[in-house]
Amino acid sequence: MQISRRQFFKISSAGLGTSSLAALGMAPALAQAEVRQYKLLRAKETRNNCTYCSVGCGVLMYSLGDGAKNAKAKIFHIEGDPDHPVSRGSLCPKGSGLIDYINSPQRLKYPEVREAGSKEWKRISWDEAIDRIARLMKDDRDANFIEKNEKGQLVNRWTTTGFLGSSAASNETGILDVKFARGLGMVHLENQARLCHGPSVAGLAPSFGRGAMTNNWVDIKNADVILVMGGNPAEAHPVGFKWAVEAKTKNKAYMMVVDPRFNRTAAVADFYSPIRAGADSAFLLGVANYLLNNGKIQHEYVKAYTNAPLIVREDYGFDDGLFSGYNAEKRAYDRSSWAYELGADGYALRDDSLQHPRSVFQLLKKHVERYTPEMVSSICGTPKEDFLHICEKLAATCVPDRTTSILYALGWTHHVGGSQIIRASAIVQLLLGNIGMPGGGINALRGHSNVQGFTDLGVLTTMLPGYLTLPHENQQSLKAYLDERTPKTLVANQVNFWRNTPKFMVSFLKGMYGDKATAGNDFGYHWLPKWDRSYDVMAFVEQMHKGKANGYVIQGFNVIAAAASSGKVREGLAKLKFLVVIDPLQTETASFWENHGEFNDVNPVEIQTTVFRLPSSCFAEEDGSIANSGRWLQWHWAGQVPPFEARHDGRILGTLLMKIRELYEKEGGTCPEPLMSLDWNYHDPKDPHPEEVAKQANGYALADLFDDKGNQIAKKGDLLSSFAHLRDDGTTTSLCWIYTGQWTQAGNMMARRDNTDTGFGNTPGWAFAWPANRRLLYNRASLDPAGKPWDPKRAFLHWDGAKWTGADVPDYPVGSPPNSGVSPFIMLQDGVGHLFSMGALVDGPFPEHYEPEESPIPANPLHSGSGKSPVARIFKDDLPSFGSREDFPCVATSYSITEMFRHWTKHSRLNAIVQPEQFVEISEKLAASKGIVAGDMVKVASKRGYIRGKAVVTKRVMTLQVAGQEVEQVGIPVHWGFEGTTRKGFLANVLSPRVGDANTHTPEYKAFLVSVEKA
Ligand code: SF4
Repeated sequence: MQISRRQFFKISSAGLGTSSLAALGMAPALAQAEVRQYKLLRAKETRNNCTYCSVGCGVLMYSLGDGAKNAKAKIFHIEGDPDHPVSRGSLCPKGSGLIDYINSPQRLKYPEVREAGSKEWKRISWDEAIDRIARLMKDDRDANFIEKNEKGQLVNRWTTTGFLGSSAASNETGILDVKFARGLGMVHLENQARLCHGPSVAGLAPSFGRGAMTNNWVDIKNADVILVMGGNPAEAHPVGFKWAVEAKTKNKAYMMVVDPRFNRTAAVADFYSPIRAGADSAFLLGVANYLLNNGKIQHEYVKAYTNAPLIVREDYGFDDGLFSGYNAEKRAYDRSSWAYELGADGYALRDDSLQHPRSVFQLLKKHVERYTPEMVSSICGTPKEDFLHICEKLAATCVPDRTTSILYALGWTHHVGGSQIIRASAIVQLLLGNIGMPGGGINALRGHSNVQGFTDLGVLTTMLPGYLTLPHENQQSLKAYLDERTPKTLVANQVNFWRNTPKFMVSFLKGMYGDKATAGNDFGYHWLPKWDRSYDVMAFVEQMHKGKANGYVIQGFNVIAAAASSGKVREGLAKLKFLVVIDPLQTETASFWENHGEFNDVNPVEIQTTVFRLPSSCFAEEDGSIANSGRWLQWHWAGQVPPFEARHDGRILGTLLMKIRELYEKEGGTCPEPLMSLDWNYHDPKDPHPEEVAKQANGYALADLFDDKGNQIAKKGDLLSSFAHLRDDGTTTSLCWIYTGQWTQAGNMMARRDNTDTGFGNTPGWAFAWPANRRLLYNRASLDPAGKPWDPKRAFLHWDGAKWTGADVPDYPVGSPPNSGVSPFIMLQDGVGHLFSMGALVDGPFPEHYEPEESPIPANPLHSGSGKSPVARIFKDDLPSFGSREDFPCVATSYSITEMFRHWTKHSRLNAIVQPEQFVEISEKLAASKGIVAGDMVKVASKRGYIRGKAVVTKRVMTLQVAGQEVEQVGIPVHWGFEGTTRKGFLANVLSPRVGDANTHTPEYKAFLVSVEKA
């Protein structure tokens, strides 16, 4: 008899006696079990998820308090949930310390204020905090709200106070963030995704249609080859990484790691090769060149499922590092030539022989031919024979019955060309036919536990929920917006699902403005703020620094630690009038005005910012959902109430919003209409329940709905079961269309806990995955156009004569039969995967290797000019802050380690014990040249500042040969600061430069120049 540990506890707590247990064959373990049983006997078990990384491991929280009157629940033990399909009871060192996070001595207890120029915190009441913050916000909004721009266009935006959302708060908090900030007209609305996985969306969406991890954690076990590059999952995602190990042990998968350091993933891989930080595009384009030169592509797949046969416009070109349409003055491209040549019918011309010189296939071949193995080796510092070995192993999966799974994380996104590195990996996987396949795909391993959710919800300056965009100021009517944002179909008979944009947008507006949104007023479209430029984190720091911002509301985000060039962030915060930090913990952001010696050397008296510190609940004290990296929306429950006077985020936002509205009602003010029109009709507007917000995100029928054949699909008032039911006439509402289906008439789909494996490790009964509960995106591409699986062992879907069915929800029209000509990349205008991304990215339709802004070599071997990105995000004021290779000869790269999660776990005792002190990693050769031995204190400096840390002298970091010279790399873990249980340390981002990816403005954290000296 098989019995799980949880079932065992259920049985034992139900009071089975010794004899019964013996009858179950469990007598030998009884003594031990009884000890456990005693410990947990009166405990309440609550399901939740680890709050750190996006593996989203299941946890069981045990709390005292059995519901008796006056008994207050208190969590005293947390362990892994053995039923969870991904984690199966495991927790890594971060998750194992969760109880210490909940009980951290740095948990905030009461609202506090630090008055302008003061040296201390002062405890205040919630009423005082809310009254004062509302007053400050209203005054700033009244003084600076822009109703119309200089051209007279209605823009309704407020630029001088910003809002940063958390990436570990629930989706329900995220929805409230969007309503709160956009309702007030804020355009600087951002979250952690800007500083981590922004380039994933920008790289993956134009390639396949959606900006998300293509497969899921468990599916990695189906791979034959695993390439880990730009990530270190053994340390950053330890529990998810077990599925890569499973692939090795059960599937005999061959695992390769390419990384600047011989990291812990490399330690269990079959093959490791080093690479210079910042050279990943060159490596991947070299792989593409190898595959094309050696005919190692899956020809049928490439022909049928990619845009290889489509013809590109005649005026497209590429020369010496520049694509056609470059304007040097504007540092921007006119992208009109990066498009298909269209026929009279409006569809793209094609050549299925792939021989046309302007076919995407030929253009790609031409583009990558410069990336020879010798060139790759020279740019990357990777030995040529290593590179060729990796190419051969990848090439072996171009056959239909073998797959490569690519795993990456911040090692790709944290680069100035991050979006294009990911595009390059997409090209490799499309050539190999590995997208849509079990065991294939590009697995973007998201970082924070709900950074996926906050990205989905559009908590980003120019975005709206469900990957809709916030209107630009030139889009002055809903019609103008929809005309521009609804893509035209470019190949006959394709789904082009974004053609439904009007349905998604109108349903969103109904969610925002409720009954006040009518066809007569464009559903409240005019109330939304309209943007003129990106108000991303880099831009807002610039604005603060110039003294052009007044207020900042920061929720669960340690921006001074997370944003690039911490020194400049600190100077910017010091110019604000007010700063509001909502957080469970003491953060360096809230304490930026405190003097902590050389770790934060400021004079509080000179800093006139009024700072409020508001204690919020943490994951263990709230109900709600978070989205893991595999897009699973997992519902969790509170195991205790927030400690002391801490409050839920929703309550803080609700109370504040109601107070601001009250002020407008009493006093009037500038343009109150958008704010007063906001639908905030919760059962208690000051404290919305997560359940009602989750249902609102899902969406309702506002009238009886019927399908094309007249059959009723929903009654008025029903929760919608599918985004296919959304309408553009105001009869449906949904705040986030991709989440429709998460909470239906059948109940909360996110709370489902059926872990039945329907094949290939797929568990569609566990939680809910967007979109439509699909677990493996583009899964129709696992079969050929005739419906035959490319690999009979990977028959994931099949046509049953009337519809597609199988182990997963088909990512395809279920009734479109084999050979219908409908291609599997249904979100794209042409239905096929993009080797050529047209004008979707601002820096080129193909990736190109550009040197980092701070480069250790004098020139890019590929170009005659500077060889740096011609369109990277750089502010003029920051130009003097870039260092030269003469003064700062080493390449620094920042990263995370197993025992720590960014800047949170330093507050947790267990993690502080195992990693108490800041360190840096340097090579033996560099150490010897500087007279440094292991354990010495070293000073690492960039043009922007310095840190000190213990030297770890290691073989893990190697001296590389790059473009004919030696290059040293320095490893900088990021986890310390001047708050926490660990010893005080420096914020590592003191060192990093303010240069951003051209597409996403995600800063460069992983390739910049430093010097190293013995301290
Ligand atoms: S940090 Fe990630 S891998 Fe570790 S327990 Fe938490 S969710 Fe799981």
